[in-house]
Amino acid sequence: MKNIRLGATALEISEIGFGGIPIIPLPQEEAVSVVRHCFDLGITFFDTANMYPTSEEKLGIALKSIRNKVAIATKSAQRDAKGAAEHIDLSLRQLQTDWIDVYQLHNVSNEDALNRVLAPQGAYEAVSKARDAGKIRFIGISSHSIATAMEALKSGLFQTLQFPFNFIESDPADQLFPLATKNKVGIIGMKPLGGGVLERADLCFRFLQRHPYVVPIPGIRAKKEADEIIDLYRNPEPLSEADLKDIENIRSALGEKFCHRCEYCMPCEQGVQIPSVLMFQAAAKRLSREGVKGWIGKAMESVGQCIECGECEQKCPYNLPISDLLKENLALYNQYARS
Ligand code: SF4
Ligand code: SF4
Repeated sequence: MKNIRLGATALEISEIGFGGIPIIPLPQEEAVSVVRHCFDLGITFFDTANMYPTSEEKLGIALKSIRNKVAIATKSAQRDAKGAAEHIDLSLRQLQTDWIDVYQLHNVSNEDALNRVLAPQGAYEAVSKARDAGKIRFIGISSHSIATAMEALKSGLFQTLQFPFNFIESDPADQLFPLATKNKVGIIGMKPLGGGVLERADLCFRFLQRHPYVVPIPGIRAKKEADEIIDLYRNPEPLSEADLKDIENIRSALGEKFCHRCEYCMPCEQGVQIPSVLMFQAAAKRLSREGVKGWIGKAMESVGQCIECGECEQKCPYNLPISDLLKENLALYNQYARS
């Protein structure tokens, strides 16, 4: 596997990284063993967030003895300086490290969130102070909105950008990623497997290998999964005509129902948590039952508040039939919760 430089940061990392969500439900010993296996295979970039329960702690244990050989990225969804400063110290403790290589402002996906983190007393202020104090090396941002991410990049304040990127969410390659590369911002590709929706890892990673400036961070929950993905990097093959046809078929099959989690539909005045409800099926594939019930279950309770006003559908750039999808996902969730 190749090493690459992450934008203009000083970080030389493996061309593929590790996403820290799927180790949440694993017992600690198993999670640590999966992470170490990934390192043994050549992965040197590990991404997590203090919002992912137990993920930082498990990575901390796994990476402690090889800390100088890996780069760790984590995130905080706090929008104010006080909250972000507390999160940074919490992450340092949980990760058992004196420094975090990339600290990202988490899911800054609309104008209001960007304004809040960049305002005086906003989260950026705390992250910047922590960088001056040596607790953080580089500052990044994660987002699901192209427009917000473009604004963030134009500010010149971020050294990395984390954004969903896969063959059903390829829009960032049009304008966002060219702007990032022009500004020498390192690009971290979240959801390389569509957040669990895409099952053909071969197609996903062959597509991503066409964009070598993006470091994908697949969530890996088993050694076997790591072996399969790394093999696709050790023996890369270009997409064949048949692969491209398969991609087109998958795109059109998912096109009418796939929620890109861009949050353009939000907020809903009735309090319906639309993107969380629509990601139920992906979450059910990746998280434990307790995790799904705790997180998605709460969002499902909000579906009853929908008055079918249609406002969210007008705002959705993908023309998703949101009202129908809310009902469909609620029915699937109820079935799942009962089984
Ligand atoms: S429903 Fe549409 S607007 Fe809302 S998050 Fe999903 S894709 Fe984006
Ligand atoms: S249709 Fe339902 S979910 Fe959409 S904005 Fe109206 S109340 Fe909210």
